[in-house]
Amino acid sequence: MLTPAWEVEPAAAGGPQLVHVNATATGGGVSELIGGLLRHQDAGWAVIAGTPAFYHVTKYLHMLLHGRSDPEQMKDPQLMRAYRDTLAPQVEWFAQRLTPGDVVILHDPQTLGLAPGLKALGVRVVWHCHIGAVVAPERGPGPVWRAFHTELATLDAVVTTLPEFAPPGVRHVFVIPPAVDPSAPKNRELTAGEIHSVLARIGLTADSATPGVTVTQEAPLPPDARVVLQVSRWDPLKDMPGVVRCAVRLPADVHLLLAGTDPADIPDDPDGRAVLTEVQELLRDLPEPDRARVHIVNISLRRPELNALVVNALQRRADVVLQKSLEEGFGLTVTEAMVKGRAVVASAVGGLREQIANGRNGVLVDPTDLDAVRAALARLLDDADLRRDLGERAREVVLERYTMPRLADDYSHLIATISSGETTVRP
Ligand code: UDP
Repeated sequence: MLTPAWEVEPAAAGGPQLVHVNATATGGGVSELIGGLLRHQDAGWAVIAGTPAFYHVTKYLHMLLHGRSDPEQMKDPQLMRAYRDTLAPQVEWFAQRLTPGDVVILHDPQTLGLAPGLKALGVRVVWHCHIGAVVAPERGPGPVWRAFHTELATLDAVVTTLPEFAPPGVRHVFVIPPAVDPSAPKNRELTAGEIHSVLARIGLTADSATPGVTVTQEAPLPPDARVVLQVSRWDPLKDMPGVVRCAVRLPADVHLLLAGTDPADIPDDPDGRAVLTEVQELLRDLPEPDRARVHIVNISLRRPELNALVVNALQRRADVVLQKSLEEGFGLTVTEAMVKGRAVVASAVGGLREQIANGRNGVLVDPTDLDAVRAALARLLDDADLRRDLGERAREVVLERYTMPRLADDYSHLIATISSGETTVRP
């Protein structure tokens, strides 16, 4: 019997409760976001249960939203049946814990199937879709929106990062960008000594090892190397293999750090192992001098504090942070790098186009044009003043627009609006 679990139980309170529901307590931007938000919001956090078969369906739906799965498979009635059959019995768990008037925020497609069952309990149901997809409707989101017709019709509101990411026909759309917490372990200031010691301890710069972090490299990262970093799940849309392809023909003192979550730790991300294998095979085929300039850091999510500290130290060590995603609703890794004053090169796709003003607080590139990506990296690596200027403005924009108190305020506005029955659409 699959049963959800509280990651954070809501405090017993007199009034209506607010509860976030997602698919995993660790791994990826959504869990990072909810964890940070709960430090600024009085709310609970429940995590649904799933099976490998269920996560294959949800990953298929995720990729189909981006127009990167075969829509023909949607014609198989078994697919959505398997999805709904996994979620339907889990409504009972919520029935025992929620009361009419409570507000539930369902995050991403993994949880959307709960909407009708929760609505029948008399709670208000909001779907926060963190995925941004605007590909040709018939290839991309169209088949998904049709498959979820029943669920979408029951929602009180939908939240997206950009207006164009919203499903059609939904009356209440709130456009709310995500946020980071500058004081969280992932982002807090680190001294040069702390950065040095973390990177040595995990074995990146010294002959050492720390349980929970696996570094794969030919030799330690030289102290004077110029560093380009990408931090991501091993998801096909993050294009880690494309990042490796960029490494060749960069100057000989430039090293590439690829940091990612151990695929075994993310149940709803079944493609991770295959992407990591693809990267390893690519590395094997690289000429030895290029291979020696690529370092893979695999971080276990079973030790969240260590993960946060390592990601923080890597982002601060990087001269340039790259996010070469092929699609992205919103890239938290980019915001995390920006709040640290790093110079960022990111793909001109999805929400990343909103996060970065090209040439002002970062650089946007076409991720399919490897020469352009390489040229942008080389330009920033060669110009410390430019990196500093971009980084300073990047930090300013994050502090102004992308912090947790702002996100908590946006949610408060949403809840007040749907609770009063008002039908405003927030720009
Ligand atoms: N992340 C992490 N450890 C890793 C790789 C990623 O903690 O090894 C975090 C990263 O710092 C960020 C989140 O996972 O907070 C990824 O969020 P993003 O929005 O960039 O992408 P998503 O995974 O949601 O598609």
